[in-house]
Amino acid sequence: MQFPTPCNPIWAASANWGDKRLEFLPVSLRLAGTPVLLVGGGGVATRKARLLLRAGARLTVVSPAVCTELQVLLDEHDGVWQQGYYQSADLHGKRLVVAATPEASVNEQVYHDAMRLSIQVNVVDAPHLCTFIFPSIVDRDPVLVAISSNGQSPVLARILRRRIEALLPSEYGRLARFAGRFRELVKEAIQADGPRRLFWEQALEGTVAEQVLLGREEEAERKLREQLRDTNALHSGEVYLVGAGPGDPDLLTFKAARLLQSADVVLYDRLVSPAIVDMARRDAERIYVGKRRADHSVPQTEINQLLLDLAQQGKRVVRLKGGDPFVFGRGGEEIELLAQHRIPFQVVPGITAASGAACYAGIPLTHRDYAQSVRFVAGYLKNDTVEHDWASFQSRSETLVFYMGLMGLPVICAQLQAHGRSPDTPVALVERGTTLEQKVLVGTLADMAEKVAEAQPAAPTLIIVGDVVRLHSSLSWFGSAPG
Ligand code: SAH
Repeated sequence: MQFPTPCNPIWAASANWGDKRLEFLPVSLRLAGTPVLLVGGGGVATRKARLLLRAGARLTVVSPAVCTELQVLLDEHDGVWQQGYYQSADLHGKRLVVAATPEASVNEQVYHDAMRLSIQVNVVDAPHLCTFIFPSIVDRDPVLVAISSNGQSPVLARILRRRIEALLPSEYGRLARFAGRFRELVKEAIQADGPRRLFWEQALEGTVAEQVLLGREEEAERKLREQLRDTNALHSGEVYLVGAGPGDPDLLTFKAARLLQSADVVLYDRLVSPAIVDMARRDAERIYVGKRRADHSVPQTEINQLLLDLAQQGKRVVRLKGGDPFVFGRGGEEIELLAQHRIPFQVVPGITAASGAACYAGIPLTHRDYAQSVRFVAGYLKNDTVEHDWASFQSRSETLVFYMGLMGLPVICAQLQAHGRSPDTPVALVERGTTLEQKVLVGTLADMAEKVAEAQPAAPTLIIVGDVVRLHSSLSWFGSAPG
C-alpha cells in the first residue's frame, strides 16, 4: 500500500495531529440572537456578560443580586435579570450556559443539568466542568486572535495576549476591512490563486498596508489599484526613517519594531544599540554607516544616495536613527532626496536623548517650581565652534539641554556665565543615557569643565543645565549619582 508522501511542512504537521488529543477545539461561535443563561451577578459574571453581549447573545442572568455594572450592561443590551436562586428549569430554551457563582455546589448543579439537556456549559475557573472555555482574545475586529491554555494557566494566556497585542497595530482591523472591500476586485484582476495570494501578501505588508494603518485609505486604494494595473509597481521600494530611541531597546516604539521586522535592508549608525539592530529579520541586510565626531565613516551625501539607490532597487529600507530622526538627526536631509525622486517614505518618531536621559537620571526637564520651558541646543556646530545668541539663554526658568556638547562644554559653561547665568547654576552630564552603563555627573557652571576633564566621560553624552538638576539626587533610581 502506498501512502502519500508529505510534500509540505503544513501537511506533515497536520499528519501528526492525530496523535495528540486536543482538550478543546478552538472554534468561533455565532451567538447573535441566541438565548444564553448566566448564573451569578458579581464581577466575574459581569466580565462574561460583557463578552456574551458583545457577541449579540440574548442574555438572561439569574442571581439573587447583581452588581451595578452588570445591571447597567443588561439595561443597555435588553438583557434580563431574573432575580432569585438558580433552578434547573432556568435552563429551559437556552443553548448555552455560564456558571459564575462563588458556590461550588451551584456551579456543579448547573453543569450536571446542562449535560443532561445537552446544553453547552462553562463553569468559570473549573475546566473539568466545561464543554467550552473562553480564550483570552486580542481584538482587532474583524481580526480576532484567541489564546487558550485549556484552563491550565489563564495568567499565562493573558501574558501571551499582551505580547500579541504589542505585535498587532491597533488599526489592524481597519486593514482587514480594507482587504475585504477589495477582495472581489482583486479576484477578478488576478484569477490564479498563487499570484493572487502573493499580491495580497505584498500589499498587506507593504505601502498599501502602511497607508491604511495611518488612516489614509484613499491613498491606499490608489496604490492598490496602481499595483493591480502594473505589477512592477508592487516592487517599488520604500524608506522608513525610524527613531530608535536613546539606547535602551525597550524604548523602541511598536511601530519601529514592526517596520524593522519587515525591512529588507537596515542602515544604522553608532548611536543605535546592537540589540535593536538585532531585531531586524535574520535575512535582512545590515549596513553600518556609523558616524563618530571625527570619523565620518560614510559621508552624509553618500548615505542619502545609498537610501535612494536601495529604494530604487525595490528594497524596503529602514534607516535607524538614534533618538528621534527629526531632533539633530539630519532626518530632513535624508528624506529630501527621496522626496525629489518620489520614493515613498515615512518618518517614525523616537524618544529623543533629552527625554530618555532626563527620565532615567531623575531630572524632570520642566517643573512647576524650577523650569517652565526647555530648549534643545546643538552643543557642537558645523565648523567646530559653538556659536549661539548666548544672550537669549539667560532665563533662569528655562532648562537647557545640549546635544553633542562634550567637546564644547568649557565654552558653553563660560558663555552662559558671561551672559548672565549664575555660576552656581546646576549642570548634569549624562553619559550613555538609558543604557546599563549610564552615568550622571553633577556640578555647576563654575566647576563642571574641571569635573568633566577629570572624569573623562564616554560618548554619547548630554548636558542638562538648570535648577531642575537639583532634583536628580532625590528622584534618580538608575546609574551612579554623585553629587
Ligand atoms: N537624534 C538624536 C540626536 C542625535 S545627535 C536624538 O534625538 O536623541 C547626537 C547626540 O545625541 C549625542 O552627541 C548626544 O549628545 C546625544 N545622545 C544620543 N544618545 C544619547 C544617550 N544615550 N545618552 C546621552 N546623550 C545621547
